[in-house]
Amino acid sequence: QQALLSVENLTTVFDAPRGALTAVDGVDLAIGRGEVVAVVGESGCGKTVLSLSVLGLVPPPGRVVSGKAVFDGRDILALPERERRAIRGSRASMIFQEPMTSLNPVLTIGDQVAEPVRIHRKASRREAMDAAAAMASRVGLPDVSKRLSAYPHELSGGQRQRVMIAMALILSPELLIADEPTTALDVTVQRQILDLMLGLTRDSGTAIALITHNLGVVAQTADAVAVMYSGRVVEYAGVRAFFDGPAHPYSQGLLASLPRLSDRGRLTPIAGTVPSLSALPTGCHFHPRCPRAFAPCAHEAPPFFTLDNGRRARCWLYG
Ligand code: SF4
Repeated sequence: QQALLSVENLTTVFDAPRGALTAVDGVDLAIGRGEVVAVVGESGCGKTVLSLSVLGLVPPPGRVVSGKAVFDGRDILALPERERRAIRGSRASMIFQEPMTSLNPVLTIGDQVAEPVRIHRKASRREAMDAAAAMASRVGLPDVSKRLSAYPHELSGGQRQRVMIAMALILSPELLIADEPTTALDVTVQRQILDLMLGLTRDSGTAIALITHNLGVVAQTADAVAVMYSGRVVEYAGVRAFFDGPAHPYSQGLLASLPRLSDRGRLTPIAGTVPSLSALPTGCHFHPRCPRAFAPCAHEAPPFFTLDNGRRARCWLYG
């Protein structure tokens, strides 16, 4: 079966005074209809730039220099901006980390939730407002009519995140890219918002690319995991296989640094720091931090090797 979204060899650079910095480096990734794929990695690994690249939203001086993002058979990146916008508004939508920066401060919540319906369904203002009210109650906004006539600053952080979900899902998109959708919220609200998002998308068969650094969230929500490090996907696996036995030394380090109830306070964080884009190591980007690095690692970037259970890892240990 053809994937809903197939990212092929995608590379995005940022032009800088001393030359281009590669933020996303030859990424391949596929998401099936209705599937939840988590993209995990520390901040700066390129996961946000990847998600913006896929929808043609990388801000300058960033630019996609090669690769494709094939959505339902058509390469989004090769489409004229007008068609791309049509897909973004209705069939593939995105939820950002900080709703305050993506909501318009001078428009009411109702106008913003109704907007996709007015634009993409050519609905009247009245119809769009009715749809917005229905969606607002589905995402659990209290006192809907009052909230719809409010402005973003009058809502709590959790309510604003619910508004973002309402806007992103009001047209039942086939794909939702959710970039750290709950990071700014406290833990109990995070859980509620995630459950809400998953419930609504399951009902409509929406596929989700969930961008996160939180492995707990991954374990509870995803079907498959892609681990990113310094712009590259270094491991791809089904969620069970991943948590049973991560293959890439970086993934192993990430899992080992998870706080566990049994040994609280005894974290084993990965030694060293994430390399900066202007000083990427040669060969395997992870080699300066890798406890298992050996002869080829510093010189040659490993390709993907396929393991059992459909797992794939970019690591010479499997070569
Ligand atoms: Fe470690 Fe080498 Fe594998 Fe990179 S390729 S993760 S340095 S063993």
